[in-house]
Amino acid sequence: MNVLVVEDEPRIAAFVERGLRAEGFTVTVANDGSTGFALACDEQVDLVILDLKLPKLPGEQVLAKLRQRRPDVPVIVLTAKDAIDDRVRNLNAGADDYLTKPFSFAELLARVHARLRARDQRSSAALELGGVTLDLHGRTATVDDARIELTAREFALLETFMRHPAQVLSQVQLMDRVWGYDFEPGSNVVEVYVGYLRRKIGRHRIETVRGAGYRFVP
Ligand code: CA
Repeated sequence: MNVLVVEDEPRIAAFVERGLRAEGFTVTVANDGSTGFALACDEQVDLVILDLKLPKLPGEQVLAKLRQRRPDVPVIVLTAKDAIDDRVRNLNAGADDYLTKPFSFAELLARVHARLRARDQRSSAALELGGVTLDLHGRTATVDDARIELTAREFALLETFMRHPAQVLSQVQLMDRVWGYDFEPGSNVVEVYVGYLRRKIGRHRIETVRGAGYRFVP
């Protein structure tokens, strides 16, 4: 398990790093927000521990940017501010949990285990909507009980649609979620892949919304 610790106070960073290493985690420390964000985008990172008061890029902005890139990575926020307003705002901004400084290592460890457990439960689950089932763990798909073969991209695209049923997703949103930054601007790759998916799951299940994007119809 790879944990990224984004914390500029050397004493706290060292304390967390030492403790997690002793528990068998692989730990990377970033000392400022922009380095932290860059490292957190790596899919190898399983969990992020994020301080809010950071040089270069504040923790709140790291969190907001990270949520666009990796909506599912668990993030535990460390904060010296213990005002309820801040906590609520952080959770709304996509933190999974928070700890108020000073904290004990045991408290932090309990949260880390809880967040990783929750993530594993989520990732072993299946999505089921309108006759389409995606087994997110086994990476298999069925349509009206018949198994269909999907490529990794098609699977990711269908998963994105099924996580936002009946919602219009623009080409740019789909590009960001499924292809990341790894695409040519102006490319018609989304259109092409929606075409592939329609052939496999049934045309009527993905609707084109003229000028806006596409919608999964459960
Ligand atoms: Ca700090």
